[in-house]
Parts: sequence; C-alpha cells; structure tokens
Amino acid sequence: MFRPRIKWEHRPVRLGDGRVRIGAVQGIAAAMADPDGWVWALLEILDGTRTMDRVVADLVHAFPDRSEVDVRAAINDLIREGYVEDAAERVSEGLSAAERERYGRARGLWRWMDRTPRRTSWDVQLLLRQARVVVVGIGGVGSTAAAALVASGVGHVHCVEPDVVELSNLNRQLLFVEQDVGRPKVEAAVERLRACNREVLVTGERLVVDGPTVLLGLAVRFDVLLLAADKPAGITSWANRACRETGTAWVHGGYQGPRVSIGLYRPGKGGPCRDCFYAERDVRLAALPAQTPWSPGIGIPESHAVTAVSAGMAGLMTAHAVMSLIADVPALPADREYGFNLVTLRDSRALELTAPSPLCPTCGPLPQARDNGGQDRV
Ligand SMILES: [Zn+2]
Repeated sequence: MFRPRIKWEHRPVRLGDGRVRIGAVQGIAAAMADPDGWVWALLEILDGTRTMDRVVADLVHAFPDRSEVDVRAAINDLIREGYVEDAAERVSEGLSAAERERYGRARGLWRWMDRTPRRTSWDVQLLLRQARVVVVGIGGVGSTAAAALVASGVGHVHCVEPDVVELSNLNRQLLFVEQDVGRPKVEAAVERLRACNREVLVTGERLVVDGPTVLLGLAVRFDVLLLAADKPAGITSWANRACRETGTAWVHGGYQGPRVSIGLYRPGKGGPCRDCFYAERDVRLAALPAQTPWSPGIGIPESHAVTAVSAGMAGLMTAHAVMSLIADVPALPADREYGFNLVTLRDSRALELTAPSPLCPTCGPLPQARDNGGQDRV
C-alpha cells in the first residue's frame, strides 16, 4: 500500500514569510506560498505513516475549507516533482544485501538529485548496474573516470588503452602505483578496478585507436562511450562520428591547463553534435582580426600542464555525465560542451547551440553530398 513520504533529502523549511521551501539545493528546490499553513501541515503528515487516503482525510479534517480534490492535487504535484517516495517500498529485488550496504550513501544522493517518480529508491542503482560503458584512454582523465564508474556500480566497465605506465604518469593517474611502471596500463587498471568492486564486470584491451573504425567497433558494443584521450589528432571527431552512426550516447573530457572541460551527447535526438560547435567556432574565429601567436622559434619546450586535480576533475565530471546519460539523474542538458576554470572556480565557456550547425561537416546539410548514399561526407 502506497504510503507517501517526503524524501528526507528534500525536507522542507518554513521560511517565516508565508512560504515553504522544499528540496534544499538550487536546481531541485522550489518555494510554495502557504499563507494559512495548510501546505506545511500537509508536508508534516507526509511522513510515511499514512496511506494516501488517510493523509487526505486528516488534512481535510484539519482544514475544512480545503477540498479533497485540492489536497490530492497538491500531493500529486509533490509526487510529480520528485519530492515524494513510497515509505512502503519493497526491498529491491536484484540487489544483494551487500550491494545495498555498499551503495547506501549513493542511494541518498541519487534520491536527492532525482526528480523522476520511481518504483523504488534503488531504481537508479539498478539502471547503473545494467549499463555497459567503455572508457577509451586510461590516463589522468580515464583512470579517475573508470574508478568512479566502478565504485558507483556501473555493471560493466571496459578499459581501452595501448600504453604502459610511466613514472611521469604517477602525479595524476591515481589508479597506478610505483610498482606498475613499465606495465601495460590496461593490465594494472583492470586489476585495481576489480579489487575495488567485485560486483562490477571489469574488462580491458590493449588497443590502439588509429581511426574511426576502431571507435565504431567499440561504440556498437556499449551503452555509453567515454572518450578520455586527445590523441591521435582527430580522435574526438572520430568518436563523434562513430557514436552518431551507432546512436551511442557519449562523453568526452579533458583539460587545457586550468580549464577543465567535458561534452555530453545523446545522438539521434536532433541536437547539435560535437563537430557543430567547432564548425561554428571556426566561423567566429575567422571573423576576428588576424591574431599572431607568440612563436620565438628558439625551441622552447612545450609543457603538458596537468595535476591530479585538473585531470581528476575532468575524470569525475565525465563519470558524472556518463551516469546522467544512463539514469537521467541529474537530468543534465545534453548535446553541449561544459567548462570549469580552476583559477576562478567558476564555469568557463559553456557552449550551446539550439540546433545542429548548417556548417557542420559531420551532420550539417551539404547539398552536393545529399545523394551520396550515406557515404563519408568529411
Ligand atoms: Zn554536427
């Protein structure tokens, strides 16, 4: 029997100005007008001890000027907005007692961020458990992302990486230890990840991504592709094309000095693809006065500027985006690029388009190429 209860994480506050606030955090919280106190009274008795009918009867008894219809509508609004759970939910089938203990804290955060009414408060965990994710690149970004996905209980995590562990990796690639130097990264990563969570299927392969075909072969086998590599040049565009072709949700993440960035995409929904943003950017840059980069020509060594924090931030944000694509919690807007600046601790250069770019070489209309039978248009 359904016994509605306000989620503990959303517990309301009476603001003292005739309003009630519920949800606690921006993006989830809402304020409701409550001049005569009946909303607060309703929230107080939505504590999971009463059935829906009992709640309605008790409230109408206390506030006779409110009709049963008013009260039911208010409760249904709270349910629809994701603030209510069923205190009488059954223990979730499909998760063992050990899994419920392991993921108990995550259950609280999923419940907090989740605005979709669910059958049980474990539904998000079950969705993660059913998901298959491939992580391409087990460097600073990918090793952090893979660790977060495995710890979070994503059902199958597959690691792809051709390189071996080097001493210079150890300032940021926290999956590896000194004894791993010289070992294939995939071998060491799979070993560590399996040791972290036996409930997750962890696999890996030492694979060089040398063209879009390799990514196509991976994208077709997994629910989400996480690209955490920026080499060879063009790999992000290859991933974009592979995932568009297979309809695979995908995420990419990286850093440029203190600027951390990710992009997340759900192909097939009519939104812009990753290459759309770059096509538009190229047009904007071409319209600016010509710029001259500093290039003294005396062999100043390039730096690969990264710490465990900058790479790890990108890794954790990509893992967060992957889980959003799997469970829609939180429901992050997709088909966008996001950035975060570690110097200002603020957002940095988020990129949005309301529609695919007509200039995009990957998905934009090319009149001459329209009748090419779906052949490669790049
Ligand atoms: Zn495009």
